[in-house]
Amino acid sequence: MITIKDLQGYAEYINFVEKKYLKKFFDIQKPYIHCKEGCAGCCQVGEYPVSEVELMYMVAGFRNLPEEIQAQIIAKTDKIKAERKPDSKEKYLYECPFLINNRCSIYNNRAIICRTHGLLFYITDKDGKKHNKIPACVNDGLNYSEVFDPKLNIISPEMWEASKIPVEPKAYNISREVIMDNAKNAELDINFGESKALIDWL
Ligand code: SF4
Repeated sequence: MITIKDLQGYAEYINFVEKKYLKKFFDIQKPYIHCKEGCAGCCQVGEYPVSEVELMYMVAGFRNLPEEIQAQIIAKTDKIKAERKPDSKEKYLYECPFLINNRCSIYNNRAIICRTHGLLFYITDKDGKKHNKIPACVNDGLNYSEVFDPKLNIISPEMWEASKIPVEPKAYNISREVIMDNAKNAELDINFGESKALIDWL
């Protein structure tokens, strides 16, 4: 069970991660980042995996919203659930219910996955092999498109060289699993609880 202590620990930890790491990574990678206000592609199609403690933090943000925005989020959630095919085994992708007028209505309380939206990162498989996760908006000519080879589906060293952009396009070790695990490594006793797709919590 998630406790108030977990929630407070998580709030402190995620603000630390954001300030100490994520903001710095976004700053370093600035030449490749085209995120701007009103661009909400990352929030329009996805599963949005979140842990129980993240969900509680999101709900705390929701509770601070004006009633009419809360009502819009509830209506959007109901619609997403109603449109879901009950027996489908496919990954269910949807627009995040917290996205209102192309803005995150709970921005300060958003989940870990949301905070890494837009950055190039990698995951490591069970054999220790690294796999880059390139933001989907690369296909719209946005983040990292300057150095993306669509035929090979890779960040191309040759394209980077040709681009003359001084900063190397770097993939960071910031999957949500790693960020959650680092809390334990830092000996922060946070219970993240179960993780599942946002819509399955709502
Ligand atoms: S919570 Fe906010 S940032 Fe995260 S997917 Fe939803 S709208 Fe986007």
